[in-house]
Amino acid sequence: MNCLSIPLEIIQIKSDVSDNFSYLVYCPTSGIGIVIDPSSSAKKILKKIDELELDIFYVVNTHGHEDHVQGNNLILENTIARLAAHPQDVPDAVIALTEGSSLPPQNGTIHILHTPGHTPGSICLHIPPNNIITGDTLFVTKVGRADLPGSSPEDLYTSLQRLAAFPPDTRIFPGHDYGPTPSSTIEFEKANNPYLQCKTLEEFIRLRMG
Ligand SMILES: [Zn+2]
Repeated sequence: MNCLSIPLEIIQIKSDVSDNFSYLVYCPTSGIGIVIDPSSSAKKILKKIDELELDIFYVVNTHGHEDHVQGNNLILENTIARLAAHPQDVPDAVIALTEGSSLPPQNGTIHILHTPGHTPGSICLHIPPNNIITGDTLFVTKVGRADLPGSSPEDLYTSLQRLAAFPPDTRIFPGHDYGPTPSSTIEFEKANNPYLQCKTLEEFIRLRMG
């Protein structure tokens, strides 16, 4: 059974106590889904899972920062899900997600991009045909911090260049509600995000670290 066949539904869930976004991504045919960055919204997400009668196979973290992983256990304890993330950020992940990985792990529908910079093990999830969950790498009109332990502004620049190369109508779903809208497109970001308008790495580093 191909458990996550496209098109997948994407539900964006805003935390009640912070500006974090969590995501519930599921196949409306099979009812199988994944939870991304449960954050402080785990209870709210469990309620939604119940309502939609979903079977959650994976909890995925875009990176290891506390505000993104803090809801993991509540989801893992109340579903059959296994934890999936990049091992550099989340060493206890049962399923290691690295460049070229997919979910489900064998020839899956969801493709993993390793996008270091904000943290060494940051990932983005490409959900065909044209959606990317961008974590703290790319926000609406902003980008992730690159001055934290483990951050690399050089890597962040490269990761953002990769995202910017996706088709203009690609929809981006960020890890925080920092922009004028909760989600946007690559086209909008190229036109409105100053960090995507930097022509060189040096210019990017001046803007991001200055
Ligand atoms: Zn972060």
